[in-house]
Amino acid sequence: MTVAYRAEYIWIDGTKPIPLMRSKTKVLADGAKPGTWGFDGSSTNQAPGHNSDCVLEPSFTCPDPLRGPKDVLVLCEVRLPGTNEPHATNTRAACVVTANKYKSFEPLFGIEQEYTFFKEGRPLGFPVNGYPAPQGPYYCGVGADEVFGRDIVEAHTTACMDAGLAISGTNAEVMPGQWEFQIGPVGTVEVADHLWMGRYLLYRIAEDFGVNASIIAKPMRGDWNGAGAHTNFSTKQMRANGGWDHIIAACEALGAPGKPAEHIEAYGVGTEDRLTGAHETAHWSTFKYGVSDRGASVRIPWQCAIDKKGYIEDRRPNANMDPYVVTRLITNTVCEAASVAKAAKPQAKAGAKK
Ligand code: ADP
Ligand code: MN
Ligand code: MN
Ligand code: MN
Repeated sequence: MTVAYRAEYIWIDGTKPIPLMRSKTKVLADGAKPGTWGFDGSSTNQAPGHNSDCVLEPSFTCPDPLRGPKDVLVLCEVRLPGTNEPHATNTRAACVVTANKYKSFEPLFGIEQEYTFFKEGRPLGFPVNGYPAPQGPYYCGVGADEVFGRDIVEAHTTACMDAGLAISGTNAEVMPGQWEFQIGPVGTVEVADHLWMGRYLLYRIAEDFGVNASIIAKPMRGDWNGAGAHTNFSTKQMRANGGWDHIIAACEALGAPGKPAEHIEAYGVGTEDRLTGAHETAHWSTFKYGVSDRGASVRIPWQCAIDKKGYIEDRRPNANMDPYVVTRLITNTVCEAASVAKAAKPQAKAGAKK
């Protein structure tokens, strides 16, 4: 019986253009809680060598499904020593501010994380020379000629469930070796915490199989699908009976002057390669929304069009997007517009008879 346990401290580094995840282990005495810790920011593109200390502040802790029953995973915010200000690479702090500002809207997010397994420099399932048969049978496929890496996916799903993450499903994707897992629906900050933790577990488990899981947006040039992170979103008003007007208002808010460019800019790296208009998304330079339209920027699912309530799907975010940035922006854009619209409407007098 050990009288200690392990906390794996995990953070997001400063590598450009796509940050990497880092982690290190702290052994703690039984009963001791994981407190703040530090690391050498000069080795993670987060600080100069002459002033290298960065602070790890625990923000989301869950059971570690890969170690013993007492061990935990600790996702951290990176902060500056002394002032405790958020580090420039810390996007969670601003996400928390926005989530608190608009918490009365009770926003919910579901994120579909697409990714691609790579082994020996090519996607899992691609032959040494040339290409596999064209896309068609791989999406949600079954059988050894269509599906590559299911054992890793199954281990990852089990780990996410054991960690208590809000994983809601998985599927094989359109390109061989490409997969998806979904997190949600949960709140603005929670979905991002769980998604980052889900990514960490994916990298960590694929490592045991000698495979690299990549969130690059366009893994293969040519007629092969890109990898996205469709972001599904709703507010209390959109989910309630008669939510349709709020659904349309949310789409309009995302399409308001200046907003498409502001969002696209913050939706990850590889937009021009992935949002070509050819593979199940609108061209990155146009904004359109529509019911059931997988060629739109924002899709209203058919069930929501029938129910006249529900959620919308922003199809633009790339697989490598930062969920703290994306959920902050969507929450801010939609809830700010709804607040303005509400203030402009004549209201029933406060204190009026119920
Ligand atoms: P797709 O048909 O686009 O592949 P998925 O089933 O992969 O859809 O993902 C749909 C996502 O939408 C899930 O992550 C789910 O949690 C999320 N979702 C469902 N209802 C809501 C809602 N009311 N608000 C936000 N997200 C939702
Ligand atoms: Mn999906
Ligand atoms: Mn998908
Ligand atoms: Mn989708």
